[in-house]
Amino acid sequence: MRKIYIDYNATTPLRAEVKAALIDDFEIFGNASSMHASGRTARARIEKAREDVGALIGAGNGTIVFTSGGSEANNTVFQTMSRIADKSRSEILVTSIEHPCVMNSAQNLKDNGFNVNILPVDEYGKLNIDELEKALNSNTLFVSVMAANNEIGTIQDIKKITSLVKKKGALMHIDAVQAAGKIAVNAQELQADYLTVSAHKIYGPKGVGALYARKGVPLFPLVHGGHQEDGLRAGTYNNSGILGFGKAAELASAEIEKYAKEMSVLRDKLRLGLTEKIPNIKINGHPFDVLPNTLNVSFPGAEGEAILLSMDMQGIEASTGSACASGSLEPSHVLIATGLGPEMAHGSIRFSLGWGITEDDINYIIETMPPVIARLRAMSTC
Ligand SMILES: *Cc1c(COP(=O)(O)O)cnc(C)c1O
Repeated sequence: MRKIYIDYNATTPLRAEVKAALIDDFEIFGNASSMHASGRTARARIEKAREDVGALIGAGNGTIVFTSGGSEANNTVFQTMSRIADKSRSEILVTSIEHPCVMNSAQNLKDNGFNVNILPVDEYGKLNIDELEKALNSNTLFVSVMAANNEIGTIQDIKKITSLVKKKGALMHIDAVQAAGKIAVNAQELQADYLTVSAHKIYGPKGVGALYARKGVPLFPLVHGGHQEDGLRAGTYNNSGILGFGKAAELASAEIEKYAKEMSVLRDKLRLGLTEKIPNIKINGHPFDVLPNTLNVSFPGAEGEAILLSMDMQGIEASTGSACASGSLEPSHVLIATGLGPEMAHGSIRFSLGWGITEDDINYIIETMPPVIARLRAMSTC
């Protein structure tokens, strides 16, 4: 049977070049903290990977700390904030559509008595700038806003947001896990104090990510132990993971324009095809400030998990913002935050494209979806 993986915002397969580099890198077994030749070899390659990851996000002379992924990097930032909060600055702002690892880090601080304020977004998922300006005050410690959303692809006006945050003297964290490699991300130009990336969203291995910290900003380790990463993240270096991340970052930097062009052409074709062939659907996310690979569609009258299962039987792998059939009636917090009603949110499917998706695949999806939706709408119970 045909198989079309179109869920690249969930994770990506390894690029062939990354896989080849990883296999090669498994030979590099030395402990990068050791002084002998094996250790030095591993260390040199890790530092090269650090440069490649730094180049992808315009890190300049900032610090790049390797972590176990985007989640750990984001947790490290929130942990640091809990350490530096004091009477003069204690308030934390996040948007209502952040990734669960930011949402729950914020909730954790709230549960521990910190002052956390969740800012609303508009119908396209853009942070409401007026609300941000109203919320910012001389007590604001730190603001965390994702550069682009994983579910609907909406890209925030980060430069504008950062300049407002800086005017109040607060710190700015950007979760750029979905943006890196898809659109230009430059930590220095964006005036980020902290910025998060993850390897497995850019065709690198799972279980490795990085936190950028601007030179001089506070940073405390989440994982305590040895002196690795200048004491900012203990634990023996994940040689192959880090080296694979470096390779993936190098490729992403070189191909970012080609990526945006190719993905948006295919994505637009899919959007047009579905809109023409299926009545009464809604495209979620911003109409043009959106990741080139992301298309989130609501099919009211059909339930997300049922749609996914039917698609899966036809070999199409995507994802949904609904969890109706699994018993938890909680639809996606992102779609709800954009003001979507439960029916629209439950009937939503995210298509996220990546290298490997062809025009033929898109045509197949456009042919396959209309009967699936028609059948489910006819027997809808949700
Ligand atoms: C995937 C993702 C993360 C988490 O990264 P992991 O490496 O999987 O821990 C964080 N933020 C966003 C926006 C993501 O899409």
